Amino acid sequence: MPRETSKAKAARPKKIIAALDRTYPEVHCELDHQSPLELLIATILSAQCTDKRVNIVTQALFNKYRLAADYANAPLAELEQAVKTTGFFRNKARNIKAACQAIVEKHGGRVPQTMEELIQLGGVGRKTANVVLGNAFGINVGVVVDTHVARLSQRLGLTKQKTPEKIERDLMGLVPQNQWTLFSHWLIWHGRRRCFARKPDCANCEIQKLCPQIGVIKSFNHG
Ligand code: SF4
Repeated sequence: MPRETSKAKAARPKKIIAALDRTYPEVHCELDHQSPLELLIATILSAQCTDKRVNIVTQALFNKYRLAADYANAPLAELEQAVKTTGFFRNKARNIKAACQAIVEKHGGRVPQTMEELIQLGGVGRKTANVVLGNAFGINVGVVVDTHVARLSQRLGLTKQKTPEKIERDLMGLVPQNQWTLFSHWLIWHGRRRCFARKPDCANCEIQKLCPQIGVIKSFNHG
C-alpha cells in the first residue's frame, strides 16, 4: 500500500467497512443462542475456546438449564462436568453460577441491559458485556476486542495499541457507533477466513488494497 495522506488515512476505515460488508453480507455472531441468557453463558464459555466447541457444549447445556435460577441452583460440580470440554472449566462454571446468582438476586432473573450492571455480575468483563449488549439487545456501547480484532486492527493500521481496552478506544473513534457490533464481527470473520494469525492469505484478501499489512512477516504472505 502506498504512503497515505492524513485525509486518505481518515477515509480508510469507511472503505474497509464497505469492503467487509460486501465480502460478508451474512455476518453474525457465531455462538448459537436464543436468548440474552444463552448468549451470556456461551460468551463466558468461549474464552480460550473455539465457537464450534462451545456450540457443541451448549446444545446439551441449554436443554438442561433453561433459566438463570437453574444455573444459580445447580451444584458447582455438576456445572463443571457440563462445561468441562471448553477448558478452564472450574473458572467458567464458577463464573456462570455467580453471574446467574446475581441475575436472580438483583435483576429478577433477567439479564441486565447496561454495561455498568453487566460488569457487576461475577466473571463478566467488558468484552463479554459488549457481546451481550450488541448481539442480544442491539445496543452499541463498545467494540468487542478479541484476539482476531486486536490482530487485524494492528495489521490494518487502525491502532498501534496492544491492550484490548486501548484498542477498543481507538476503534470507537474510527467506526460509526451504529456499526460497532458489526465491525467486530467483520474483523472476526475475516480473521477466521483470510487474515489468519500465522499465515494471512494476503494474495487473495478482499481488502488488500486498503491494508498496510503492519507487522505481517512477508514470508508468511503468499502475495
Ligand atoms: S492484506 Fe493480509 S494482513 Fe491485510 S487484512 Fe488482508 S490478509 Fe490481513
